[in-house]
Amino acid sequence: MSADNLISIRDLSVHFPLSKGLLGEKATVRAVDGVFLDIPRGSFVGLVGESGSGKTTLGRAILRAAPITRGRITYRDGDVDYDVGSLKRAALKDYRQRAQLIFQDPYAALSPRMTVRDIIAEPLEIMKLTQTRAETDQRVREIAIKCRLNLEHLRRFPHAFSGGQRQRISIARALVCNPRFLIADEAVAALDVSIQADILNLLKSLQRELSITLLFISHDLSVVAHTCDVVAVLYLGAIVELAPARDLFSRPRHPYTQALLSAIPSLNPDDRGDQQRLSGEIPSSLDVPGGCRFHTRCPIARKQCEKIEPVWREYGQGHFAACHFIDPN
Ligand code: SF4
Repeated sequence: MSADNLISIRDLSVHFPLSKGLLGEKATVRAVDGVFLDIPRGSFVGLVGESGSGKTTLGRAILRAAPITRGRITYRDGDVDYDVGSLKRAALKDYRQRAQLIFQDPYAALSPRMTVRDIIAEPLEIMKLTQTRAETDQRVREIAIKCRLNLEHLRRFPHAFSGGQRQRISIARALVCNPRFLIADEAVAALDVSIQADILNLLKSLQRELSITLLFISHDLSVVAHTCDVVAVLYLGAIVELAPARDLFSRPRHPYTQALLSAIPSLNPDDRGDQQRLSGEIPSSLDVPGGCRFHTRCPIARKQCEKIEPVWREYGQGHFAACHFIDPN
């Protein structure tokens, strides 16, 4: 693992055994299926894919909230070097302070019976990171200001706030323990478009100011386009393309990424000519197709795609993809 990577994921699988049918046949949900991913320290990494691609399960596995079936997640920061899957007690508690989650739905994530001050303070109290109420209040105020919350609002209850304000409260709660790594899982999906930009800008500026590493999970490529440094595209539990954001958007290599990009509505009527629409639904992770897992929906699939899994190759600096038919030039 490079010293520049805060998180390094190697051959990670999260599988769930299941009984199906009247006879209780055994089956396996392959939610995450052999993922390799490095998350550089201080970076803003996007993880994109349709619903059912496994992005939330991957995020949960990194946070040790989903069981790891195979592979390894390593977290390295200064003297700390954790094999996330085997952490116990004190080390797991320390890791949970270092790696936090911002929830998708700011309406459901905040307890309606707690004041904003108590919501933000709760992680400090659970992890016993402050000794006195005055110390807790001081930390809550500091992080509230950073998240552009009005200090007057700390005494109010969540129902008094809009979706954007609630998401700022969620962000403050995730940051109050001074984590090194944040996962934002569809953190703007429930918000109006105008508010989305506001929250994305806030996350970006906090990430820089606090030197945090951020994994931003989204089903929407257009949301990550202007925010992320690097984007990984996930399809049916596996990463099919990874590239610096600018490269990915200017020259997507994988047919799946091309289809996702062409599904983004354009204001320019001339752009509509070469759109590649995805056909059908993403297959079930109970029944992942053999060969290239995208072959059942790929507009350029050929016979060999059904049998042979494509190799992960580099096409330019830091730009990787897995497809048999990418022009290397
Ligand atoms: Fe499409 Fe075949 Fe490439 Fe898979 S390997 S993306 S099916 S062309």
